[in-house]
Amino acid sequence: MGLFSNKNPEPKELDLDTLCKSHPIVDTHNDFPYLLRSQLHNEISNNPTFDFNHTTAHTDLTRLKKGKVGVQFFSCYIECKNPDKFYQDFNIPNSAVRDTMEQIDVTERLCKQYNLAMVHSSEDAWKRFKEGKFVVTMGVEGLHQIDMSLGVLRLYFQLGVRYITLTHNCDNPFATAASSVAGGLEDKGLTSFGAECVKEMNRLGMMVDLAHVSLKTMHDALDISRSPVMFSHSSAYALCEHGRNVPDDVLLKLKKNNGVICINFFPIFLKKEGEVTIDDAVDHMVYVINLIGWDHVGFGSDFDGIPSGPKGLEDVSKYPDFIKKVAAKTNGSNADLAKMMGGNVMRVWRDNELMAAKLKHEPACDENWDKREWAFHKFVKMFPEIFAGSMDAKQNTYSEYSV
Ligand SMILES: [Zn+2]
Repeated sequence: MGLFSNKNPEPKELDLDTLCKSHPIVDTHNDFPYLLRSQLHNEISNNPTFDFNHTTAHTDLTRLKKGKVGVQFFSCYIECKNPDKFYQDFNIPNSAVRDTMEQIDVTERLCKQYNLAMVHSSEDAWKRFKEGKFVVTMGVEGLHQIDMSLGVLRLYFQLGVRYITLTHNCDNPFATAASSVAGGLEDKGLTSFGAECVKEMNRLGMMVDLAHVSLKTMHDALDISRSPVMFSHSSAYALCEHGRNVPDDVLLKLKKNNGVICINFFPIFLKKEGEVTIDDAVDHMVYVINLIGWDHVGFGSDFDGIPSGPKGLEDVSKYPDFIKKVAAKTNGSNADLAKMMGGNVMRVWRDNELMAAKLKHEPACDENWDKREWAFHKFVKMFPEIFAGSMDAKQNTYSEYSV
């Protein structure tokens, strides 16, 4: 006994307060702005019934502080708009772009109103975090939100969106969603237009998010992305067989890509039966760490995009409990824990920026979806032609219009 008594000293009590001062807890998926939309129609200025310091949701500033959260990616989520459950006609006009812009606007206004630091770069995120600010940036949850247009993708980037999920629970002209495959549709993966879009995201420095996508889309995107990708809110398929979760072979590919998976706390993605607790979420984290190491994990809670979190992990104040449990189960060093807490996400963000800097001489991709319908008034046929036949070169249709 005496022989080994010095070999395994009691692990030092984890000093999370000190660790969190120099290393941010980062969460890549919180849907609070969608609550502002669905419940307040985004009317948050001078609204006596709304106070972000204290809410009855999963998220408010008091509990974010208690949870020691440093950087929050707020999701500017808008639902798939097509009345068809499987959303196969991508030419039906819809309001997804307007509605997404409103979510970007309300997130920005929330930050102004409560003196939060909205940032557009990882460097700025670090800087503002070190100044003691609560840092906010944005993600968009599905390419249906760019409505077929790479021009819209570029403008979202300009407005500060830093990741886009390739699909939500519907297909789009770029990729197949996990839910479509679960519904019996073919898994077509990334389309060729989707491959162009991934390349364009790399060029911009917009992180490619593979949460919600089909298995083939995961593989296709990992095969071509020039930058590390993320799963902004997904868990481990080996522990809970759900199409939203990530199987081992994809996790191994993610390690090669140097990307990150941010564990989702939605109970139905953690365990099929019985009461779901914080320990189940911790199990997913530890499983992925054991499979691919400490360099590829993070938090993607899905708070306020789910009805309720697991027992013990009910809201944004609970990250410290989670971290302590992971520390106890793994004996991870402070450096390991700091990576899981947010260091990995910050690195992936930075790597995407560095790749964009490298690609800055590449021209923008102005390719259009080849099945896109273009409708104009007949009047435009009287305008000068750029070249003979250019009026009818594409799928243009012309309707009657009197001047
Ligand atoms: Zn989601």
